Amino acid sequence: MDRKRKLALDDLSSSGNNNSAAPALNLWNDGKGYSQRYYEILEKRTKLPVWEQREQFFQLMANNQVLVFVGETGSGKTTQIPQFCLDLLKGNQVVACTQPRRVAAMSVAKRVADEMDVQLGEAVGYSIRFEDCSGPKTRLKYLTDGMLLREAMTDPLLERYGVIILDEAHERTLSTDILFGLVVKNRKDLKLIVMSATLDAGKFQNYFDGAAYMAVPGRLHTVEIFYTPEPERDYLEACIRTVIQIHLYEKPGDILVFLTGEEEIEDAVRRLNRESSNFGAEAGELKCLALYSTLPPAMQNKIFEPIGPPRIPGGLPGRKVVISTNIAETSLTIDGIVYVIDPGFSKQKVYNPRIRVESLLVSPISRASAQQRAGRAGRTQPGKCFRLYTEKAFKKELQPQTYPEILRSNLGHVVLQLKKLGIDDLVHFDFMDPPAPETLMRALELLNYLGALDDEGSLTEVGSMMAEFPLDPQLSKSIIASPRHQCSNEILSITSMLSVPVCFVRPNEAKKAADEAKSRFTHTDGDHLTLLNVFHAFKSNMDNASWCHDNFINYRSMKSADNVRTQLARIMNRFKLPLVSTEFNSGSYYVNIRKALVEGFFMQVAHLERTGHYLTVVALHPSSCLDHKPEWCLYNEFVLTSKNYIRTVTDIQGDWLVELSPQYYNMSEFPPSEAKRVLERIIQKRQQQQKNRQ
Ligand code: ADP
Ligand code: MG
Repeated sequence: MDRKRKLALDDLSSSGNNNSAAPALNLWNDGKGYSQRYYEILEKRTKLPVWEQREQFFQLMANNQVLVFVGETGSGKTTQIPQFCLDLLKGNQVVACTQPRRVAAMSVAKRVADEMDVQLGEAVGYSIRFEDCSGPKTRLKYLTDGMLLREAMTDPLLERYGVIILDEAHERTLSTDILFGLVVKNRKDLKLIVMSATLDAGKFQNYFDGAAYMAVPGRLHTVEIFYTPEPERDYLEACIRTVIQIHLYEKPGDILVFLTGEEEIEDAVRRLNRESSNFGAEAGELKCLALYSTLPPAMQNKIFEPIGPPRIPGGLPGRKVVISTNIAETSLTIDGIVYVIDPGFSKQKVYNPRIRVESLLVSPISRASAQQRAGRAGRTQPGKCFRLYTEKAFKKELQPQTYPEILRSNLGHVVLQLKKLGIDDLVHFDFMDPPAPETLMRALELLNYLGALDDEGSLTEVGSMMAEFPLDPQLSKSIIASPRHQCSNEILSITSMLSVPVCFVRPNEAKKAADEAKSRFTHTDGDHLTLLNVFHAFKSNMDNASWCHDNFINYRSMKSADNVRTQLARIMNRFKLPLVSTEFNSGSYYVNIRKALVEGFFMQVAHLERTGHYLTVVALHPSSCLDHKPEWCLYNEFVLTSKNYIRTVTDIQGDWLVELSPQYYNMSEFPPSEAKRVLERIIQKRQQQQKNRQ
């Protein structure tokens, strides 16, 4: 066992014993003494289930390259196992522990820095897209799986790392799936741990050629499951009702509610706050807390704060109700949960390769997910789980497992990354579940049209640059094309704004004022230019937070956009892509920007047909600032809801399409439509003009 940790443990076991040796020194923190808090946390840590099997863990790690590790949520996998692995490092090697979610990477790194009594960013750090909180001293790094994949592009063998832990492996995110196929193939000295609360261990052991297996038995208490006798028409309403019933009639214990996204969660918090203000003082406080990935970290941490005493002497104790996305299903453990409310839905990505549309849809969860959710109720004492669907629906309608993301995604960005990693033969890449051939085809086709791959499927110079931007290929292509259109400064700002949470705030109680504020930024040519206006206004108001507040702009979004912009500018600089602008009064300032957008998004264009609908059958999203219906428009996103929308839209001209991407707007392969007839006329006109000029 490692000397430094052993000393601290000895200290702990002999605490109160005056004869103990000199106190241990924290070698992770320049050899300073440990703080009181360190020992307090250490005592809790050593009681976690994974500590009981510490020796077995080290033995398996010594004798195997790959370990499949399964342990109940809350058993200490994410916080403890990476710390154990520090003892296995040689020289300056680092332990990497991946998380599918940014929030999890950040909050777990913070917790582990506390546990090791070090500053976050020193011995323990994290790295997520556009935010690197790690340094030369970092020996344990939590990072999103996407970031590790990105690192593989510059360090294909991931040689900095001695141990790589792929956590939450059951989620089968796109990046984790690719990492499975990459990580251990070429380095026999690298140790890999595949970790999860719930996975088909056999399938993973097989895939990794007979990897070792270790399970930590859970300490789950029984959880009583309740179903609704009839399907619920409005699950949000049903959630609110159930929370209130639990609060008024059930024994003490916190509540965890699973909803699908920020808007819904904030709405539920508001409604619950309104309802609970009507309770008498003897009913305990009902403290409603939201939890989703774009929530500011300080707000997220509130879920770990203990609840106050009863409001009046003899009154009932208060309780927490945490209203969360899927993130609380396995990634974050909140102690004290006794009641779980599960409406049976989550937001899931779906991809339709035929129409090239990827969207996030509220969809029924799998039975495996439902079981995980219920498990959150039995961590510290027997609990109850209220499923807001019928038992019949659970048995007959829910599929057993969630499909891996690789089967539900647009693979454009990933294929580009794989090509950059030198993996040319995608068909024979060792996918755990190979994606549909049509999806791969679509990705190759997109990259070919964008000029990232040549006709043989090899990476071009442009493609090689595109892969280095942590962005969708359409955006990186626009950036690379933007200096040619004299607008790289502006495209960079727009891209940054598209990479952060929506900047417009529209509070329920001030919708009108918010809309008015937004209209002051509106640009008639569309949403991309409107975002640019907001960014410019923010910068000319010196990044001022109260300016943001007064103008219904989200300050955090703006700060992150600014940060994203700096980082993207750094990548541009590396490729010697100049930052330039068109003279504002030249008359072509905005035209150039719109043309640069077309360079990346010519495949996401809609045409206004005589019926008043856009071809590809979409409608402008109600949030769009466009007040007219342009004949042609380019969109950032296709949203499938009860109606099909395109979101973040900019007015463009048909001529530009033919001019900037003749390879795609090749009429011989275009489906018959009004749009085709219009394009044909444009092409004829251009040909005529060319003839006249000759
Ligand atoms: P697992 O990955 O097995 O689900 P974790 O390692 O994330 O478990 O958590 C183990 C325990 O550490 C939790 O049950 C909780 O008690 C404690 N813990 C984790 N994060 C925090 C935190 N931010 N604050 C307080 N306690 C925490
Ligand atoms: Mg975990």
